[in-house]
Amino acid sequence: MRPIIVNKTQKGDTEYVHVSGPLNEDATVVLTPHKTTLGKKVVFNLRDIDYINSSGVRVWVLFLRDIRKDREIFYEECSPAIVGQLNIVSSMIEHVQVLSVQIPLQCPACRTERLDLAHAGAFPLANAQLKAEVCPRCGEKMEPAEPLDEYFEFAAIRI
Ligand SMILES: [Zn+2]
Repeated sequence: MRPIIVNKTQKGDTEYVHVSGPLNEDATVVLTPHKTTLGKKVVFNLRDIDYINSSGVRVWVLFLRDIRKDREIFYEECSPAIVGQLNIVSSMIEHVQVLSVQIPLQCPACRTERLDLAHAGAFPLANAQLKAEVCPRCGEKMEPAEPLDEYFEFAAIRI
């Protein structure tokens, strides 16, 4: 299986860390060297985590426990795979601010899928608040692939 890839970019006092690939038991080897080198303010971009299993959750929670002391941690553009875990594993977001998440949309007519982005100010977002997106293939109004009150459960608990 391909490993996760970590790319770091420094902008001002903030370190942007783009993590992509599958988050599973193999991620420990990739993540561990970053524990000591991360800056004080870290934004993890999680849009390209396309898969996460229970071992991956455990690896991430342990990683987070080690790095969050004396650091500000943020997540941005959380993928649907990540959001699914945020909703059931509260330690995934302990002492973390979620800046934005991807919302999976689906066309009711032709099943075309696409991702929308919601920013923290709008959490938790209800179906009625979602701005109308038109299917790029057939022009039908797109709908959330799953009910948004369930998708944003992690935000509702924290407010
Ligand atoms: Zn369509």
